[in-house]
Formats: sequence, structure tokens, C-alpha cells
Amino acid sequence: MSQQESAIKEQNRLIQERAQIEEELGNLRELMQAEVDVEPDEGDAEIFEREKNAALIAVLERKLQDIDSALRSIEKGQYGICERCGRPIEAARLEVKPDATLCVSCQQEVERLARRNRPARQIEW
Ligand SMILES: [Zn+2]
Repeated sequence: MSQQESAIKEQNRLIQERAQIEEELGNLRELMQAEVDVEPDEGDAEIFEREKNAALIAVLERKLQDIDSALRSIEKGQYGICERCGRPIEAARLEVKPDATLCVSCQQEVERLARRNRPARQIEW
């Protein structure tokens, strides 16, 4: 499968996933807006439920952002291309992290450099 074909396939998958997340978010937000009629002894369970929903909403919103940024890079024709070395990003990596912009080895390299550079700031020019 060519790079372009897999990008199109991924684009379709992301659009579908995005629609599912939007729907789920809609349901959760509706739940959060619903009138809370709490009996004194049911309060804790109700609050727990709402906190759980709020956390889930945050996770889904974050996921939506990842999907949007992946869709943008597909549109620009940069999907699945490492922006550091220009080689294709591993398919397994894209599966886990669709908005990845670095291949595995560049990601490791960048993280290694970031760790090493921190205490040695003065060497930088
Ligand atoms: Zn790379």
C-alpha cells in the first residue's frame, strides 16, 4: 500500500472515530447539564458520577485534538512522515499515536537529547 493510500485510509478511520467521540461527548455533556436532584444520602454517589464524567470529557476532548491535528497533517500531505528525518513513521506507532510527527528513532533521540541538555545549558550556542 502506498503512503498516499494509507493516508486516505487513515483519514477515513479518523473521521469515523471523530464522529463517535463527538457523539459520546454530546451524551456526556447532556448528562452533566441535567438537573441534579440529590437526596442527602445519595450525594456522594452523584458527585462521584459527575467527577467521573468530567474526567471522561477531558480525555475525549484531548483525543479530539489529537485526531484534528492528525487530519490536518493528512491534508497537508505530511501524514506519516517524520518531520526530523523525512522517513515514513512506523505504522504501529501511528496506530497508537495518530498525531505522531516523529519516527520512533527520532523520538528517542529527541528525548535523549532533551534529558542530556538540561543540566548542560551553558554549552549551547
Ligand atoms: Zn525520524
